[in-house]
Amino acid sequence: MFDILLTNEQRALRDEARDFAREVPRQLLLDMDADKVRYPREYVQKLAARNLLGLRFPKEFGGRGLNWEHEVLALEEIGVLGASLACLFSLPSIVGEALNVFGTRAQKEKWLRPALAGKLTVAEALTEPRGGSDFFGATTRAMRVGSDYVLNGQKRFIVGAEGADFFFVYARTGDEPRALSAFIVERSPQVEVQHVYGLMGTRGGGTGRVYFRDARVPAENLIGRENGAGEIFNQMMIPERMTSAAGALGLARAAIEIAARYADKRRAFGQKIREFEGVSFQIAESVTRLDAARALVYQTARAIDANDQPGRVRRLVSESKKVATQTAWDVANAAMQVLGGIGYTNVYPIERLLRDARLMMIWTGTNEIMNLVIQHEYYKELLAAKSSARDVELDAVNAETDGEKVYE
Ligand SMILES: Cc1cc2nc3c(=O)[nH]c(=O)nc-3n(C[C@H](O)[C@H](O)[C@H](O)COP(=O)(O)OP(=O)(O)OC[C@H]3O[C@@H](n4cnc5c(N)ncnc54)[C@H](O)[C@@H]3O)c2cc1C
Repeated sequence: MFDILLTNEQRALRDEARDFAREVPRQLLLDMDADKVRYPREYVQKLAARNLLGLRFPKEFGGRGLNWEHEVLALEEIGVLGASLACLFSLPSIVGEALNVFGTRAQKEKWLRPALAGKLTVAEALTEPRGGSDFFGATTRAMRVGSDYVLNGQKRFIVGAEGADFFFVYARTGDEPRALSAFIVERSPQVEVQHVYGLMGTRGGGTGRVYFRDARVPAENLIGRENGAGEIFNQMMIPERMTSAAGALGLARAAIEIAARYADKRRAFGQKIREFEGVSFQIAESVTRLDAARALVYQTARAIDANDQPGRVRRLVSESKKVATQTAWDVANAAMQVLGGIGYTNVYPIERLLRDARLMMIWTGTNEIMNLVIQHEYYKELLAAKSSARDVELDAVNAETDGEKVYE
């Protein structure tokens, strides 16, 4: 975001996150991309040591008591590191949301505080082999047995799974279609994580498949009420999608800057390539798209912070996720085109950013699912209220020819 629009406190936080991102060793990024590092626990601990995890949560549990505007600001800076490290920064914010909003004091003490302190690492396990988009179709089961629940089932594509000390898990607790509950499941011999994926990008973040085989979970690990996961899911979609959106801004910014600097140095036909309209207009388009996406993400952050109505928040969050992630992909793609052949090699990191960006349009709800939410909430809002704005439909010569306004 532009300095002029930031408060001193926001600028200081932005700079803190920027300093942190600058200090992350290049070798870590390379080793993660080469799958030599499977889960960078030290990175999460360093974020915690700088008090950069869970910025929005109360100070008493180790957060900073800030708001979404701050988190988005910090995450744009972390986003330049790529999708894995941005996601590991975001996981305590995502899982922490459920604990902070729906958890008891004891649950916050037991899991939120140590997660923000980097003592316990977390993962969110929603997606199953049978599907991720259809949340209520989950088949992982949690059966109540005495004072425990016993979990059976599997989750897949779970970032952080390889290193997680505990998982936030949705499981079926009844036969009604919406009878899902949310649990904290600690790592145990009955919770097996397998490293099965050769990922196109976003490597090194511990993405794995998780099996629950008669995993006993004490009833006090239930978050919220039994069969109440729908409400938790709706709340969790805010941090899931806002963190995807904000991280995408950083990735897109990094790609544009590399491409613009290259275009300012690289020469062809006796001139800098930025002097060709075909090149400079790609930069113009990319910068405009990034600024527009950023404006939307910040507007959404402010709407959440202002406690706007849930339907409007859902729409704006989905718009932000869709626009920012599509922008990151388009911009990284344009950056590769500007660099020509060398952009397709590992001499520049554009190819890695492009691979990372591709996932962002799929995870935390695909961009098609974002469209589903956006149109649904828009219709609801439009059709529910009588508008006080001018009725432009009547500004036509034959507006009153009712016989021609046929709808069936
Ligand atoms: C590397 C990686 C990391 C991930 N990290 C996590 C994680 O940490 N935790 C987690 O729980 N999940 C995670 N995911 C899962 C991710 O969120 C899902 O892959 C995603 O939500 C889509 O679910 P799916 O893959 O089952 O596709 P499906 O739900 O099977 O969808 C397939 C296609 O159908 C379309 N589709 C489905 N329903 C509709 C509809 N109603 N209208 C229009 N189109 C529709 C989708 O848009 C998509 O194009 C991760 C995935 C990957 C690849």
